[in-house]
Amino acid sequence: MTTPQIVNTIGLLRTRLAAVRREGARIGLVPTMGALHDGHLSLVQKTRKHADKVVVSIFVNPTQFAPHEDFDSYPRTLDADARKLAAAGGTDLIFAPSVGEMYPQGFATRIEVGGPSRGLETDFRPHFFAGVATIVAKLLLAVMPDAATFGEKDYQQLLVVRRLSADLGLATEIIGAPIIRESDGLAMSSRNATLKPDERRIAGQMNVVLKRVIADLRGGMPIATAEEAGKRDLLEAGFVSVDYVAVRDANSLEPLGSLAGPARVVAAAKVGSTRLIDNMAA
Ligand code: AMP
Repeated sequence: MTTPQIVNTIGLLRTRLAAVRREGARIGLVPTMGALHDGHLSLVQKTRKHADKVVVSIFVNPTQFAPHEDFDSYPRTLDADARKLAAAGGTDLIFAPSVGEMYPQGFATRIEVGGPSRGLETDFRPHFFAGVATIVAKLLLAVMPDAATFGEKDYQQLLVVRRLSADLGLATEIIGAPIIRESDGLAMSSRNATLKPDERRIAGQMNVVLKRVIADLRGGMPIATAEEAGKRDLLEAGFVSVDYVAVRDANSLEPLGSLAGPARVVAAAKVGSTRLIDNMAA
């Protein structure tokens, strides 16, 4: 087991990667905010299939958090993360920059993606996708990877990153990876660690409710009725508030009149003070 080297600056990262590139290696990138779990590790394994060398970035990105959100309390566990990546294998380099490295004094640029950014998460976290798009663009420009992998766990984010990469003409192949779940079906998330035992039990109902929405749709229930039933079921399961349960076009996230083509049911709700998101192919 070799621990992947940790680099903290874009300059050193570029020097290391230039040497790798000279050997003809394909480079893959897995952007994360750390507090790694098996979902993140699955992204590394998937990236490995598309690249000879894999960089995992670990950076809690301040610009995607609103002032009232959990930036300060977001878990930061770099040593444990490095041990997990070493034990799992497949990671060659960890890029763990400081906030000042990514956002130097005077930073004044913001990337706004339209299209799939509209609605859903943006209705509740209007700052979010500009923060994501800006940091993802910066990471892609720092690493210049041949491939970069993003989880379907953050389905809207995956579509936004695809749009960003296509619109800016970036030379990176964007790869989507399936959601890794706990044994009760709860989608793995760094935020699950903050759940109290009773909240954890309630959280496990979200995937059950999404499956029920899909079953309702397949049984012929109109989309709007199935969405309302999903919201009601989440509240009945113990979620304190529901931001949305929506059935959308799987490629554009536009609202659908009927279930003709590929669709995705997406949901966001709060259990205790923790906001959870999940989604499934419908
Ligand atoms: P995060 O550290 O939460 O920003 O996530 C980093 C990457 O891991 C994103 O592309 C996420 O979509 C992905 N990811 C997070 N949780 C999971 C999961 N349970 N299964 C698959 N991918 C995940």
